[in-house]
Amino acid sequence: MKLSKRSLAIKPSITLALAAKATAMRAEGIAVINFAAGELDTDTPERIKRAAIEALNRGMTKYTEVRGIAPLREAIAQKYKDEFGLEYSSDQVLVSCGGKHSLYNIFQAMLDEGDEVIIPAPYWVSYRDIVLLSGGVPRIVKGSGRDDFRLTPEGLKAALGPRTRALILNSPNNPTGVAYHREELLALSRIVEAHGCLIISDDVYEKIVYDDFEFHNIVTVNPPLKERTVIVNSMSKTYAMTGWRIGYAVGPVPLLSAAGKIQSQSTSNPTSFAQAAALEALHGPDDELKELVRGLQPRRDAIVERFNAMEGVECNRPEGAFYVFPSIRSLLGKQGKKGTIASASDLSNFLLEEAQVVAVPGEDFGSPEHIRFSYTVPMNDIHKGCDRIETALKKLG
Ligand code: GLU
Repeated sequence: MKLSKRSLAIKPSITLALAAKATAMRAEGIAVINFAAGELDTDTPERIKRAAIEALNRGMTKYTEVRGIAPLREAIAQKYKDEFGLEYSSDQVLVSCGGKHSLYNIFQAMLDEGDEVIIPAPYWVSYRDIVLLSGGVPRIVKGSGRDDFRLTPEGLKAALGPRTRALILNSPNNPTGVAYHREELLALSRIVEAHGCLIISDDVYEKIVYDDFEFHNIVTVNPPLKERTVIVNSMSKTYAMTGWRIGYAVGPVPLLSAAGKIQSQSTSNPTSFAQAAALEALHGPDDELKELVRGLQPRRDAIVERFNAMEGVECNRPEGAFYVFPSIRSLLGKQGKKGTIASASDLSNFLLEEAQVVAVPGEDFGSPEHIRFSYTVPMNDIHKGCDRIETALKKLG
């Protein structure tokens, strides 16, 4: 069957595919350890679930305003005022079916054929394909800086050109967990200031930071850039709400209105009662969030330590999110049971077969010498998984 060039230009999301594979293997009785899931291992807090149930019982089962119910948009605008002193009106907020959908709508509204979008690598797998689906040209800029994972002012300057329409910043980053410090963002902001492109700040991991790291985005460090920045955020990671599919974007009215128009002709409103749950999430106390981050930090420390103790593996210590992205460069060229380990994918397959451990190879993150491990699994499983990986790696010749 003839398929569109657009659909043929993209791949299915590998993060979702591997997380599903791990679940399927478990269902078959295979004792896999799932380091692939990009979500928390806790359930959505009770108060949030209750808000959805109450909304259903009240009959909140009909269409809502396409861009999201007014109280939710107001609460989102208020969050930015309370947390960062940034003023947005509720007209500057568009609620969509997850952060990914927000990005999709924004890029559809922004790009024409051939417009370039700068994507610093390593990058979250969907940026590249969403840009392609929107007719844009992904301009991948390899990270350098302290840990090889950061966009530097020099790298950014070299990538900006006459066709550059936008820059994506994602801090804390998926898949590396790296987060930009204030000074780093300020230096990047000086470069884009001079160019005039739009900035998409994907802040979905803003609340998951460790060791007293202070979160900033490009607007909080350089407020005049607010006029041409879209901040994308979501309920998924902060409130353990991945399945509810609620994300949002805040930014300039013309762009968000165009994105809203696209939403009105595709999904219509995000699910009505999930919006009620999101409103409760934003209003609630943040103790549960602090608790969550407190629970993740020792797991980060343990997995970083375990990887660095393995021969041939090097792992940075991320500031945030819940991923580590160890380098397996030194293991490439070694021999496994089925032949040479030539790539991160080969090593991931080897680990799946030898150690029953599922993790996401770096190729689709723009980094073929790394593998992403999500450490949102119980501490016991982190150790069990690392024991198995260590044993398996010793079998490489
Ligand atoms: N963002 C998560 C991940 O990277 C969830 C899956 C996805 O949408 O990519 O694993």
